[in-house]
Amino acid sequence: MKKRIAILGSTGSIGTQALEVIKLHPDKFEIEVLTAQKNAGLLIAQAIEFKPNTVVIGKKEFYSRVSEALNPYDIKVYAGEESICQIVELDTIDIVLIALVGFAGLKPTVRAIKAKKQIALANKESLVVAGDLVTKLINENNVRLIPVDSEHSAIFQCLTGENPDDIEKIFLTASGGPFRGKSLDYLAYVNKQDALNHPNWSMGDKITIDSATLMNKGLEVIEAKWLFGINPNQIEVIIHPQSIIHSLVQFSDGSIKAQMSLPDMRLPIQYALSYPERIYADFPRFNFSDFSKLTFESPDIKNFRNLALAYKALEKGGNMPCILNAANEVVVEAFLKDRIGFLKMPEVIEKCMEAVKYIKEPSFHDYHDTDKETREKAASLVADSN
Ligand code: NDP
Repeated sequence: MKKRIAILGSTGSIGTQALEVIKLHPDKFEIEVLTAQKNAGLLIAQAIEFKPNTVVIGKKEFYSRVSEALNPYDIKVYAGEESICQIVELDTIDIVLIALVGFAGLKPTVRAIKAKKQIALANKESLVVAGDLVTKLINENNVRLIPVDSEHSAIFQCLTGENPDDIEKIFLTASGGPFRGKSLDYLAYVNKQDALNHPNWSMGDKITIDSATLMNKGLEVIEAKWLFGINPNQIEVIIHPQSIIHSLVQFSDGSIKAQMSLPDMRLPIQYALSYPERIYADFPRFNFSDFSKLTFESPDIKNFRNLALAYKALEKGGNMPCILNAANEVVVEAFLKDRIGFLKMPEVIEKCMEAVKYIKEPSFHDYHDTDKETREKAASLVADSN
């Protein structure tokens, strides 16, 4: 039986690579649903190639363009945020790949879990914002969630066949991004072109900026806590500039397992879709003679304060990671529009963490309110910083 897949965010970096994987295995997978936000042209092209049952375009102004283009084909077309949430409930879907970026991933993730779909999760922000409620729903609905993020896929792979109670520590590796080792004087003048120039990975703009500020690693620490049910003091970040070891798990007897490969997101995407099977792929192989050294160093949390802020948010709990995430989404967007400097980003995030109302045990409704309140606060702080 082929697995029938819905890709939310099919036009993005993860979405397009997922389609490459699916194309390689027409005997294993078929596309049931594709969604995009505004890239109508690519969504139409993908729909014509993969012939899904349904496509959804988030921005309603593109509905008629998509609908007219797909009129000759037997493909249903819907538009709007609510349609993206509803479509995951289709009976004909086996796996929902959540490849949306940001807080927008939370609602459809929740709906897919409630519809008891298997989840392949790339959207780390939904676990960062509401990890407690999302993991509770996963358990209540007895749903399988497989991580797509390369570090969490590595940990997941290391844990296969192990007792999770035997985890002593998780080492999350990070490339360090394009500004590894740079001084504050240097960082004060970097711009978006410099920040978008990631040394090892080609990804969407938001996660690439998050990698440059180390916020990505902070979000991943929070994601790891919820995925693997461990305490913050069991998660250590290690800078590994070659991005060959994707993460490591240390067990109670001191033994360490690592997962390694060349940096290629198609591998964790394929693993999340094929799990529990591991299927053949001809992705380029790691060659020891190409890497005479694999190196490791501690992260610089003085110059890259976002990582420290993320640990602080995780320790505080409640709605604090939601505040961190919302403020970060606002500053990253502002940085991408040249409206805020690189070093101002952690300043705004920290001020939001101090100013926005703290809630110890938030409901879903509280998370939405917190997100909204934080965005307003962060936007005004960005405006004041100019
Ligand atoms: P991209 O920006 O490349 O793609 C985002 C996708 O989501 C696009 O299809 C976009 O549509 C759609 N989208 C954007 N905003 C909305 C919205 N408000 N509502 C509905 N759909 C929306 O992101 P990435 O693929 O890089 O990242 C996706 C997620 O995966 C992120 O959470 C990221 O942290 C995570 N991730 C990404 C990795 C990577 O290598 N890229 C690695 C590990 C994790 P459109 O194109 O029409 O705008």
